[in-house]
Amino acid sequence: MFTFLSTHVPNSVVQFATAAYFRAQARLNNGFRGFHSSQVTIKLNSMKIQILPALSDNYMYLITDEHSKEAAVVDPVEPDTVLQAVQTEGARLTKILTTHHHWDHAGGNEQLVKKFPGPLQVFGGDQRIGALTNLVKDNDTFDIGNIKVQCIFTPCHTTGHICYYLNAPGQDPVVFTGDTLFVAGCGRFFEGTAEQMHTALIEKLGRLPDNTQVFCGHEYTVQNLKFARFVDRNNPEVLKKIEWADARRKNGLPTVPSTIAEEKAVNPFMRVMLPEIQNHAECNSSVTAMHNLRKEKDNFTG
Ligand SMILES: [Zn+2]
Repeated sequence: MFTFLSTHVPNSVVQFATAAYFRAQARLNNGFRGFHSSQVTIKLNSMKIQILPALSDNYMYLITDEHSKEAAVVDPVEPDTVLQAVQTEGARLTKILTTHHHWDHAGGNEQLVKKFPGPLQVFGGDQRIGALTNLVKDNDTFDIGNIKVQCIFTPCHTTGHICYYLNAPGQDPVVFTGDTLFVAGCGRFFEGTAEQMHTALIEKLGRLPDNTQVFCGHEYTVQNLKFARFVDRNNPEVLKKIEWADARRKNGLPTVPSTIAEEKAVNPFMRVMLPEIQNHAECNSSVTAMHNLRKEKDNFTG
């Protein structure tokens, strides 16, 4: 649908149609309860991360530096929810971190900038991102109070996709992976190649410290784990994670964060260098395995 729309009609019409589509999906999925999961707060030593569910299965994140109360928000597609969280927290919002230009991530930027009383810097790696003020590239850095942010360029799902890697004193690092790395899965290769996803998952995200906490853009964990079980049949870690994720979802709880170590243990797309995964993918190279697995997942009905 989106490829057809984006090549045949003006951008404003695409934005309008896309917004209507996602809102209808959210209503179908969430009914009038409003949210697909409960809001959960993760308290780390120097920062607080509020998991803010949006639309049918998206996550926005409010990151607050505990010392200065300066805050940033990741992919604020539903600005009213964000504004409410900022107010409750008593935080000083200064930045929007956009992972990529797709509407369900960047579609709230302009409205949030309009509605918020103070100035906001909008970071992202793609000119298609609404209200963008700071175009970033690989290894660019900036701060949220005492929190150091490093941009990791991970093109493939879109050509301008950025992951944000955060470090603060006395705590585990944190990474926001948008639609590049999901819990037990990865994003579709809309604008890139298996080689690029291999670089993103294996050479970049895979080299972050094992204790890095992973916050991704969607709640796709249960579906992803079904595919992981199909690909990686003899992996007991996948079965354990399925049990855990099912219990979380039954209680309406998010399955984020995971960690880089956990992803290496259960995520077939981060395990493409292993013989058991390459056997399943009928190849003997990790880039070809990445390509074949993504293709198989695109058609997987579980
Ligand atoms: Zn996307």
